[in-house]
Amino acid sequence: MNPSFQSGIADKIRSMTLILVLIAAAAASGWAVIAVPEPIVDRMLESDVRKQAIHWQRRVILHMHQVEESFKTGTINAQDARMLSLLPEESDVYRYRLLTSSGGIFWSTRSEEIGEYDTNEFFTTQIARGETYYNHSTLPAYEVDGFPLQSTGFDSSLTREVAQVFFPLMHNGHFDGAIDFYTDITEMRETFIYRARMSLAVLTSIALLAMTIAVLVVFKANRQRMNQLKARAAKDQEVMASQMQLAREVKLLGELNEWLQSCRTLDELFKMVSEFMGHLLPDAEGSIYVFSAPRDILGGCASWNGGSLKDHIQPDECWGLRRGRTYEFGASEVEFACAHAAPHDGRPYFCFPILAHGETVGLMHLRAMPARAGDFTTCKPLAQMCAEQISMAIANVRMRDQLHDQSVRDPLTGLFNRRHMNESLRKFLSNSELNCNRLSLIAIDVDHFKKFNDNHGHDAGDKVLRAVSAALEKACDGDEIACRPGGEEFTLILPGITPEDALTRAELLRQAVEEITVRYGDKNLPRITISAGIAHFPAHGLLPQDLLRAADEALYAAKAKGRNQVCPASRGNERGALEDSSKTQAPPEDQRAAG
Ligand code: GH3
Ligand code: MG
Ligand code: MG
Repeated sequence: MNPSFQSGIADKIRSMTLILVLIAAAAASGWAVIAVPEPIVDRMLESDVRKQAIHWQRRVILHMHQVEESFKTGTINAQDARMLSLLPEESDVYRYRLLTSSGGIFWSTRSEEIGEYDTNEFFTTQIARGETYYNHSTLPAYEVDGFPLQSTGFDSSLTREVAQVFFPLMHNGHFDGAIDFYTDITEMRETFIYRARMSLAVLTSIALLAMTIAVLVVFKANRQRMNQLKARAAKDQEVMASQMQLAREVKLLGELNEWLQSCRTLDELFKMVSEFMGHLLPDAEGSIYVFSAPRDILGGCASWNGGSLKDHIQPDECWGLRRGRTYEFGASEVEFACAHAAPHDGRPYFCFPILAHGETVGLMHLRAMPARAGDFTTCKPLAQMCAEQISMAIANVRMRDQLHDQSVRDPLTGLFNRRHMNESLRKFLSNSELNCNRLSLIAIDVDHFKKFNDNHGHDAGDKVLRAVSAALEKACDGDEIACRPGGEEFTLILPGITPEDALTRAELLRQAVEEITVRYGDKNLPRITISAGIAHFPAHGLLPQDLLRAADEALYAAKAKGRNQVCPASRGNERGALEDSSKTQAPPEDQRAAG
């Protein structure tokens, strides 16, 4: 379990405990305010009343002339009785009585009980042994002498709090008698209880307030800590998500790199790029443009996530290409949109120039998806890496193409060389054999080229050879290929055409070469002509060398017949037995020159 989550739970439990403690403290305070004061006040009152009683006892004894005699005999004289009857008026005592050592009441504020005996157990167990007896009881109000019942009316439920203090009179360790005082402590008790309650209420309120403040402080601290933990957890999660995203991107980049390395053609490469970029940058739509052969235009090659792809764009329509570095639209206060990005709706975009071996070979355009414009810029580093990988892959494919071209093409004319011719012819033938297709081979040789070189120089000769090659290449369609096996000799491989068509094509080619005008220096070179021999598969052979030989022999025949003409190979490949073609035969160059 996440430690910050655990600590969050612990904090919550602590907060809940504090609240419960606070509630319990409030309940306890309420109970204390109600219940605690009464016993405390009663104890205070007991002590107070006991002290008062000592004064009352002294006054009684001081007012009596024959104290010892009276207690001993249980009689009292009239003067003492009168003095004693004054005490309730001068003190809080509402009732008291004097008892002999045997419990006989010989004087009382209640005259009716004079002569009675107090037989209570505590008299013999406590009082007679010199102990003061204190009792607090609740009595009906009518039992309290002097209580003004008239003002409240007679109410049997009306009660009063009464304290009784029973004093032993001791003389030289001898129990002489006792004085029993009753005092009404109701008001005093209520006042004390009220004051005690008020004090307790104030104290507990202060305590509760302090506790509440403490709980609030702890709460606040807890909440702060919780928020911090939450923020940290969110940050951790964010970091984890970004790490996972990074790992995914790195994996995809690695895979992209691996796939791109195994690409053989640019078409294959762009297909893979579209697929991978859609996954690597799902929040961006994009497209790739690459410079075409004449470097003044870029062709649209690939797009992904619905990115618009134009057929072609001009290099100066892009600020990235013009400034030679990544252009980021949507990052500056003042900025200009690239013309190739039209129609432009204000969404941010990047233009990454694609470089290969220090040369700009194209452009990768990335635009934020409509709903994802906010965090688009965060994808820039990854996009940059992708652009670099794509650049390297394009460079690799191009270099491989270049090397392949160099190995299969003739550097002077760009036509396929002898090696490639043999290879292709072998493939074409096995394919034709498999599918029962026809194939024609045209062997071509420039007439009197040695003389041409001698007259105009090799440079001029090369130029003528290039012009002838261009005408031959132009004449080829689809699978047809034009080759230069060597010198001033050429071969056309034409799969799938009839002998008649091959003858027509060769004748048209002958005418086209005848019409070529090559300018060299400030003058036009003399026109050149070609001779051609045609052989067909399967009529003139099933193997490449047989077909080539048949075509060559037909070519020799054309030469022998006066050059600038087309000769088909003889039927059955019989040496020297050449079939006359139905072509138009032009007069040989020297004849024409003579003419
Ligand atoms: P023919 O009509 O019988 O074919 O006569 P020809 O002079 O064309 O034939 P030949 O075989 O005697 O001469 C071929 C010449 O082609 C010799 C060589 O100087 C020239 N040649 C071969 N390769 C090149 C090349 O790459 N450039 C140039 N300028 N000339 C070349
Ligand atoms: Mg020649
Ligand atoms: Mg030749």
